[in-house]
Amino acid sequence: MMSESPTKRIAVIPGDGIGPEVTAEAVKILNAAVRKSGKKLALTNFDWGADRYLRDGTTLPPDAPEMFRRNYDAILFGALGDPRVPSNQHAADILLGLRFKLDLYVNARPCYLQDARLTPLKNREEKDIHFIVFRENTEGLYAGVGGIFKKNTEDEVAIQEDVNTHKGVERILRHAFEYARRNNLTRLCMSDKSNAMTYAHDIWQRLFKKMRSEYPEINSTHQFIDNLLLQIVRDPTQFEVIVTCNLFGDIASDVGAGIIGGLGVAPSGNINPGQVSLFEPVHGSAPPIAGQNIANPMGAILSAAMMLDHIDWPKEARAIENAVHEAIIEGKTTQDLGGNLGTNQVGDYIAEKLS
Ligand code: ATP
Repeated sequence: MMSESPTKRIAVIPGDGIGPEVTAEAVKILNAAVRKSGKKLALTNFDWGADRYLRDGTTLPPDAPEMFRRNYDAILFGALGDPRVPSNQHAADILLGLRFKLDLYVNARPCYLQDARLTPLKNREEKDIHFIVFRENTEGLYAGVGGIFKKNTEDEVAIQEDVNTHKGVERILRHAFEYARRNNLTRLCMSDKSNAMTYAHDIWQRLFKKMRSEYPEINSTHQFIDNLLLQIVRDPTQFEVIVTCNLFGDIASDVGAGIIGGLGVAPSGNINPGQVSLFEPVHGSAPPIAGQNIANPMGAILSAAMMLDHIDWPKEARAIENAVHEAIIEGKTTQDLGGNLGTNQVGDYIAEKLS
């Protein structure tokens, strides 16, 4: 459980590629945000990633989930993935391992447009694109159930099972409805593909129909995933809260990132409410741009702000979000958002605003 003390304990896993670059800026911003508050963050670095894996085979140590549960309030995560590990074994073990073993069943991905200049959509303003995607994060097609039969022959059979449990579907739906209620949001859309996935997604239909009657103040709707993506692009004003399964949530939130300025600015939280949870930018390790000081650190910085909300420090979280927003409005950004600053200069600029 989370500690009540004024010192919060944060595990930092910078990872691979641009992960360490953007995480360094997020840490800089966290320190700047709490400096004047009298609160304290105790940060502990973990060097898990491709280098360590190639050196000694370490991925996720068996005792790590219990250690995080017992000794930490949250995990700040960069990104994993390295061309030297084509199987991506270390990334799967560490990130999926933590999602599953810490039961981080909510993947929250806000898609908030910060500046009308950043969206590729025509005639859209900041207020038009403001929704959050809740992606189920522990089952579905990511459960790792399946197998390959007669591999590398013409008779090969490859199967990946879509696992949807009553408990898993119900709790992510509940989380989305409760989030909407708590934040006075009145539009919630559940998305699935129950017309084609007549077994796996029928349970989403049934549990959604049952639950929506408990939230009469919320206008809850349903869209098939293909139509949802079309509608997000055609008219994003329709959406406030979207809730969907693991794979569709991954895809929908990338579309969401695409219409708010790209992967560089999109944050996420892998959350088990009230328990140790993990916060990471939506982007991956982006090997082609690593080591050049050009990666946008804002996705990582906004993920750190989400982490502060999770540990119940909303004042500092809002201060970080405001500072990022101002930097964007002032054009103090990396190239992907049209600016000409380096990764660390963006971090310095935002840190300065906070102090
Ligand atoms: P993963 O599968 O691990 O999510 P991916 O293959 O989808 O990763 P990313 O690593 O997220 O891809 O990056 C894809 C491309 O997006 C990068 O090569 C880069 O051009 C751009 N990109 C991603 N993150 C950033 C960032 N923080 N700043 C600028 N550009 C970025």
